[in-house]
Amino acid sequence: MMHLNEATLLNNVRRRYYENRIYSYVANILIAINPYIEIAEMYTPETIKKYQGKSLGQQPPHVFAIADKAFRDMKVLKQSQSIIVSGESGAGKTESTKHLLRYLCYSYGSSAGPIEQKILDANPVLESFGNAKTTRNNNSSRFGKFIEVHFNNKFQVVGGHISHYLLEKSRICSPSSEERSYHVFYQLMAGAPDSLRQKLKLTQPDDFNYLKTGCTRYFASPASEKTLSPSQKSAAHAKQGPLKDNLVDDVQDFKTLDSALSRMGISDADKMQIYTMVAAVLHLGNVEFEDDPEDTRGGCRAKQSGESSLAIASTLLGIDASELKQALTSRVMQSSRGGVKGTVIMVPLKVYEAVNARDALAKAIYSKLFDYIVNRINESIPFQASSYYIGVLDIAGFEFFTINSFEQFCINYCNEKLQQFFNETILKFEQEVYKREGLNVPEITYADNQDCIDMIEGKTNGIFTILDEESKLPKPLYTHFTSELHTKWPNHFRLALPRSSRLKAHRSIRDDEGFLVRHFAGAVCYQTKQFIEKNNDALHASLEGIVQESSNKLIQSLFSTSNTLKGKLSFISVGNKFKTQLAELMEKLRQNGTNFIRCIKPNTRMVHQQFDGALSLMQLKCSGMTVVLELMEHGYPIRAPFRELYSMYQSYLPPKMQNLSPRLFCEAILGSLKLHEKDYKFGITRLFFRPGKYTEFDKLIKSDP
Ligand code: ADP
Ligand code: MG
Repeated sequence: MMHLNEATLLNNVRRRYYENRIYSYVANILIAINPYIEIAEMYTPETIKKYQGKSLGQQPPHVFAIADKAFRDMKVLKQSQSIIVSGESGAGKTESTKHLLRYLCYSYGSSAGPIEQKILDANPVLESFGNAKTTRNNNSSRFGKFIEVHFNNKFQVVGGHISHYLLEKSRICSPSSEERSYHVFYQLMAGAPDSLRQKLKLTQPDDFNYLKTGCTRYFASPASEKTLSPSQKSAAHAKQGPLKDNLVDDVQDFKTLDSALSRMGISDADKMQIYTMVAAVLHLGNVEFEDDPEDTRGGCRAKQSGESSLAIASTLLGIDASELKQALTSRVMQSSRGGVKGTVIMVPLKVYEAVNARDALAKAIYSKLFDYIVNRINESIPFQASSYYIGVLDIAGFEFFTINSFEQFCINYCNEKLQQFFNETILKFEQEVYKREGLNVPEITYADNQDCIDMIEGKTNGIFTILDEESKLPKPLYTHFTSELHTKWPNHFRLALPRSSRLKAHRSIRDDEGFLVRHFAGAVCYQTKQFIEKNNDALHASLEGIVQESSNKLIQSLFSTSNTLKGKLSFISVGNKFKTQLAELMEKLRQNGTNFIRCIKPNTRMVHQQFDGALSLMQLKCSGMTVVLELMEHGYPIRAPFRELYSMYQSYLPPKMQNLSPRLFCEAILGSLKLHEKDYKFGITRLFFRPGKYTEFDKLIKSDP
């Protein structure tokens, strides 16, 4: 492009998108626009072959080109590589990740292929347990992941490893009306054999509290609908959501999940345990509570109507029903008088407290099950002596909704870190190009977001620390946390009261209920109401105690990790765990070579051939592409190899000049044109132009024969 700025970039990607050319490069960064349609030929084995061993630019832009670049860089530089795939929900990150993995496994796997198959099998399993239908994406990943494909010193695939981040837990108990919970719940009910469904007492989604707040219909392709039982079919048709996506098919997907688990070496007995946990979560959700008129202390009791659910849940979980009932409706406390630990007393819980305890247990079971499954996947992938790896990061991009809570806070914090890394990397790359080409260009600087990161993760007064301190108080309060925050960060550019927000939607949040952070991609107002609960991974002691003593081996092992602290812990910080995980990830990223893929969602209706310019531009900005453009604006953004210029312009010049070498040819032209000396620079292999100066160059030649 002659001019490189937001407008030309947007125009260019739009034009290309309408021609089904969904991939473009800005420097080495791949921009991928979601086509929302399978483009034939795009991902075939023949296409894969075309990209093998080719440098970036030899073939049209493609995810495969980035995968191959990562592979070649790993080989030549003897350095592990990362591919960072980012973008908002539904932009195509997970699909791109799958294409990258398939490319690497297909191109550079061994001929036997069992490891590759396991790496690829991980996807349907992860998606069953970690993906859900949302309004933004019918198959939305509700967790982040870093998948490493490991290579030996002959650069063949020898193993893999998956790290996962922040599974969304609120969805387990209350999916919102247009959305669903995790696919596996519906898959089990739609696709599991009758005998299994009977054993687990699974009927249909509408019968379960945890599913019925959401959209409860199954996804079924026309073919698999034939296999649904009449009651399932009517359930499927009863609640036709606004979306229809044949890519998600609960009946077929259960079969895929089940066989992927088997291929991973998970025995029938272990599979049964996994499905049992999933069903237990649902039955647990049907245990309801009411005020107990006989309790003078205002306690509650389990409703009679939920007795059978309580019994089923207890059986599935391998715990005693009356013990479970007691642990859900009361809390054990040790009275201490004069500092001496005294008698154990039972404190009855109020209805809302019992509901919270039940939901906390359900969330803990499901999220620990997810950890367990990822562990099993990792164990199933052999891990021979690995020399290097290519890691693909598929994690949610910057988020801002009408109401933003702890989840958005964590993900936006993560994006601040990734953005800083992106800036550093791109900047370094630019400087390296100038150095390599022998250009003497002064250092370029860019907008730094270290202050924002410090405010969030700082050890003493960082937002996470303040939140943890609040959580450790005897009676933590979100309003107190919020005012502490504002007291500790007065007049900081990055932090403000929500009142000052110009966004109307936020006006309803009071000062003590929220805060506003000015992120690199824009200001986001966070509602703090659930920050304290969401930041706490601990169950109350009696609940923790009974699951640890479950007769079900899986349940017991899932909860055994905190054994040493048995019954003592009332607070386990989610934020702190994420901070630590992220620090480890950043450490890996900094040691590796880096490649970026920016995914863009062209419209919110999930349809093809429709490009919403404002929406797409917003995403380009949020992904930091604007920073790249700015950075290039301050340097020499247009670069053309001498050879290319020679072949483009030789016909405009007198024949005797055409015998010159490409470089001399370029020197000759520039010598004869009235272009200012500071507007261009000669590198070793190419000519560099200041922004807009290439157009001038082009005009001058063409107008002055
Ligand atoms: P994200 O992970 O960013 O939330 P996904 O990768 O799940 O988004 O993509 C959402 C949907 O968009 C997919 O289910 C698929 O229907 C469509 N999609 C994404 N990328 C492609 C692609 N390269 N080709 C065809 N369809 C795609
Ligand atoms: Mg995804």
